[in-house]
Amino acid sequence: MSKFIFVTGGVVSSLGKGIASASIGKLLETRGLNVTLIKCDPYLNVDPGTMSPFQHGEVYVTDDGAETDLDLGHYERFTNAVLSKDNNITTGKIYYSVITKERKGDYLGKTVQIIPHITDEIKKSIIKVSKARDVDVTIVEIGGTIGDIESLPFLEAIRQLRWELGEFYALNVHVTLLPYIKSAGEQKTKPTQHSVGKLRAIGIAPDILLCRTEKHITKDQKDKIALFCNVDKEAVIEAIDVKQIYEVPLSFKKEGLDTLILKKLNIVRDDNDLAAWKNEVVGRLKNPEKEVKIYVVGKYVALQDAYKSIYEALVHGGIANNARVTIVRIDSEQLEKEKVEKRLEGAQGILIPGGFGDRGIEGKIQAVQYARENNIPYFGICLGMQIATIEFARNICKLKNANSTEFVKDVKEPVISLLEEQKAIKNLGATMRLGAYPCRVSKNSFSYKAYKKEIISERHRHRYEFNNKYKKSFEKQGMVIAGVNTHQGLVEIIELKNHPWFVGCQFHPEFKSKPDQAHPLFKHFIEAALKYGG
Ligand code: GLN
Repeated sequence: MSKFIFVTGGVVSSLGKGIASASIGKLLETRGLNVTLIKCDPYLNVDPGTMSPFQHGEVYVTDDGAETDLDLGHYERFTNAVLSKDNNITTGKIYYSVITKERKGDYLGKTVQIIPHITDEIKKSIIKVSKARDVDVTIVEIGGTIGDIESLPFLEAIRQLRWELGEFYALNVHVTLLPYIKSAGEQKTKPTQHSVGKLRAIGIAPDILLCRTEKHITKDQKDKIALFCNVDKEAVIEAIDVKQIYEVPLSFKKEGLDTLILKKLNIVRDDNDLAAWKNEVVGRLKNPEKEVKIYVVGKYVALQDAYKSIYEALVHGGIANNARVTIVRIDSEQLEKEKVEKRLEGAQGILIPGGFGDRGIEGKIQAVQYARENNIPYFGICLGMQIATIEFARNICKLKNANSTEFVKDVKEPVISLLEEQKAIKNLGATMRLGAYPCRVSKNSFSYKAYKKEIISERHRHRYEFNNKYKKSFEKQGMVIAGVNTHQGLVEIIELKNHPWFVGCQFHPEFKSKPDQAHPLFKHFIEAALKYGG
C-alpha cells in the first residue's frame, strides 16, 4: 500500500509547487523509495492539448501519448518515475468519466453530485495510479491556489483520503509565500496564516509548510508561523529562492525535509547526502568551464514556459559538456522584418522548436538558411525539422513553391503534408500522432554518433509528416535521411552532408532529457556549438 503526500499551494500562484513536488520525489528516491507523482488540474479541458501556450505554457507528452501539464516534465526530470496519461487528472477528465457512466446508467436511481460522485472519481483515479505503479509513496500536487472555486472538489477528495488513510499513511504539505516588505525590512507571515486558515476551514490541516522566501527566515519567525498555523516547529521549512531549479532538492535537504517526511510517514531508510546531484548537476551548473550561446527561434519566446523542456534540455546538454548555456530568444515573426545576419550574429548554435500555424514561418526559414550557409550547428525539433525540409527544398532543390500543407492547403510542392489517416480526423483533441514510436537510425549520421544505437524510441506530437515522394530527390541533393519509423517508413530524422552538425527530428527529444542524463542529441548539439565557437 502506497503512502501519500498531498501538495497544495496558497497566497499566490507560480510558487513552484511543481518543482517542490518533484524535489520531494527526488529526495525520497535518494532515500531508497519508489515514487510516482500526480498532477491534478482544476480546469475543464480534458487535457491541455487544445490550449495555446499563452494559456498554459508547454504541453508535455508522455511515452503513452498523453498531452499533459508541464509539471509532469519536472517530475520526470527530477525523478525516475515513468508517468502516463493517468498521472495528470483534470476536472474535464473526471466529469467526462462521471457523465459517461451516468449515461450508461451506472448510477441508476441516484442524483449524481459533486459529493460523492465527483470526489469518489478523483479518489479512485489517484489510488489507481499508486496501485498500478506499486510505489512506496505517491505525491499528489493540486493545481491552483487555495481559495479558488475550481479546485474545491480536489481538496475535498484529498481531505477524505487523508482521513481514510490515517496517520503515517498520508501527509499534507502546503507551499506558501512569505512576502518580503522592503520598507518594513521583514518577511510577513500573515498571508500564510490566512492561507492555512482557509485550508483548515475546508478540513485540511497542513502537516508541513514550505515557505517560499527571498531572505532567510529566523528561528523566531519559524516558531511564530508554527504557533499560528498549528504545525510542528520543525515542520516550518524554509524554501529560499535559488538560482537554479536543480538546487531546490539540496536546499530542502539542508532543512531536513526528507527526514521529517520519513518520520511523519513512519518510514525508516538510510540517509543519503545527494553527492552525485550536488557535484554532477548543481556543481557543474554553478562552475562551468566553458560558455556557449544558443539562439532559439520561435513564436512564443516571450513566454517563460512555452518551450520549458527545450530550455531545460539545452541546460542539460551544457551540464554534459561542462558549459554554461546562454539562451538567446529570437521572435521568429520579428525576424521577418530584420536583417537575419545581424539578428543571429554571435549564435554558436541555432534551434527551432515545435510549433503550430503559419505565424513567423518565413522568419524561421531564414534562420535555417543562415545556419546552413554559415555552417552553424542547427537543431530543428518537430516544426523545426519541417522548416529545415522546406528551406532545403526551396533553396537547394529549387522548388520555389515548397511548403507544408499546414500553411498553404493546395501548395504546389507539398514537401510536408498530412497522412491519409490524419485527413479523416475531425475532432482536434488527442488526435495528433502522439507518444513514443520506434525509429531506426542510420549509421554514418550525426544522430548515430549521438545515440550510439540503431533503434531508438522518442515521443511525438504532430499531424504533418515529411512527404516521402520527395525522399529520393532530396537525398540526391545531399539530404541524409538519418532516421525512419520502423513500421510506417515515416521520416523521423533529416540531416545534411557537408555541414558540421545539422539535425532535424520529427519527434521531441527534449521530453526525455534529464539534468544528470542529458539527451544524446542535446549533448552533441552543444558539443558541436562549442566547437563552432571555439
Ligand atoms: N505543426 C506541425 C505539425 O502538426 C509541427 C508540430 C510540432 O512542432 N509539435 O506537424
